[in-house]
Amino acid sequence: MLRILNPASHSVIREIEEETPASLRRKYEEAREAQPLWAAIPGTERLAAIRRFRELLETHAASLADTLTEEMGKPIKQSRSELAGVLARIDFFLEHTQSTLADETVLDDPGEKLTERISHEPLGVIANISAWNYPYFVGSNVFVPALLAGNAVLYKPSEFATLTGLAIEKLMRAAGIPKGVFAAVIGAGSVGAATLKLEVDGVFFTGSLAIGQKIAAAASKRMIRTQLELGGKDPIYVCEDVDIAAAVAGVADGAFYNSGQSCCSVERLYVHAAIHDAFVEAFVAEVKGYRMGEPMDEATYIGPLARQPHIAYLKHQVADARAKGAKLLTGGKSVPGKGNYFEPTVFSQVNHDMLLMREETFGPIIGIQKVNDDAEAVRLMNDTEYGLTAGVYTRDGERARKILAQVHAGSAYWNCCDRVSPRLPWSGVGHSGVGLTLSTYGIQAFTRTKAWHLRAV
Ligand code: NAD
Repeated sequence: MLRILNPASHSVIREIEEETPASLRRKYEEAREAQPLWAAIPGTERLAAIRRFRELLETHAASLADTLTEEMGKPIKQSRSELAGVLARIDFFLEHTQSTLADETVLDDPGEKLTERISHEPLGVIANISAWNYPYFVGSNVFVPALLAGNAVLYKPSEFATLTGLAIEKLMRAAGIPKGVFAAVIGAGSVGAATLKLEVDGVFFTGSLAIGQKIAAAASKRMIRTQLELGGKDPIYVCEDVDIAAAVAGVADGAFYNSGQSCCSVERLYVHAAIHDAFVEAFVAEVKGYRMGEPMDEATYIGPLARQPHIAYLKHQVADARAKGAKLLTGGKSVPGKGNYFEPTVFSQVNHDMLLMREETFGPIIGIQKVNDDAEAVRLMNDTEYGLTAGVYTRDGERARKILAQVHAGSAYWNCCDRVSPRLPWSGVGHSGVGLTLSTYGIQAFTRTKAWHLRAV
């Protein structure tokens, strides 16, 4: 039995039966049966169904945002903006799927009577094993293009976003998407592992490195399409020529939005020595101004963390940094009483011996390190096993391009951070993942590309 707890109060919201081996097998078989029929209908009908799903999301956005906040603690304004943002992502897929997946003739040679063509076929039944931190974003990046491309989806929401996963399934059904074509698979990690024992044709995972490695190992046995969108240790370098107030506001928001529980949260900050002290002072003042509280309160910016056990890990990072000589400027501890609250925390005088500059924090903690020049900043930014995003703040576009050309990351930011665009591919290098979502490449990702060599006689 899965107990859904409110992270702000620890009260039980609901108890829900997890999948059993039999229920999971039934969902898989229904998906296997439904998928060829779904792939055979005209693409315009799949588009119409997803358009209806999008309309339902928009109609019910307020109550869906309430559910998300209640079960994972995201401040209500941030839940509403996730619901608004997902519509734009769906619009991108609605607009671009047909042209992206259209057959392409790459050679038509009447003399040789030879035609060469490329087509895109659905993978079949895919498993979408998902994270809780942005369930609408990370879920829809996968299941929307997968469905539009003609796949059936077994969608396993995180156990910390189960009610949201069930709400998504309900809206899919109301939009006319058949039961076998999209099914939520309910449960914790063991249910995710059991899903991978079914004969699925692909696995699209969003989550931590440790679980991603298990997924890759399980998937490799059957050689199925595998995509892993994992964590990050995302750096920002602030040059000496910036408007300090504007840079502080942007970077602090990038570090603390969603209480730092974003894959692309700013997790390391390098500041040029010429402005370091002034920047740090303004940064700490900004963070001290953040309002922590009840997530349903409109004024709250920092809510509780989704997972109670994670507080012990954050404490461990704080203790490690202090023991190694970091200077704690604000925060540094959990808040006594009910709820998974951890104070927004800023350290200066950090270095790469400290866990908080090496391991993903996934919480409201940031370390600020002084650097003397661009070369040192680039070296430190690349001193990580992750590579999701990296950014630079400077007025000088040429300097930014030179720095960003050298960083090992899937996304490069100039004077912005913690940003995702449906038009751009979302990917990581190294321990941040394999494969990509979003953009037209993230539509093709849900297909098998077939080469046709056609010689008339
Ligand atoms: P997690 O790895 O703990 O869980 C992710 C999913 O995997 C959940 O649905 C979970 O139930 C399932 N799972 C757990 N054990 C499993 C197993 N053995 N086999 C199959 N499935 C299993 O991650 P999380 O706490 O949900 O999410 C946080 C992590 O996700 C962070 O590291 C974050 O950076 C990352 N993330 C990455 C992106 C991205 O786009 N790169 C986006 C969001 C989150």
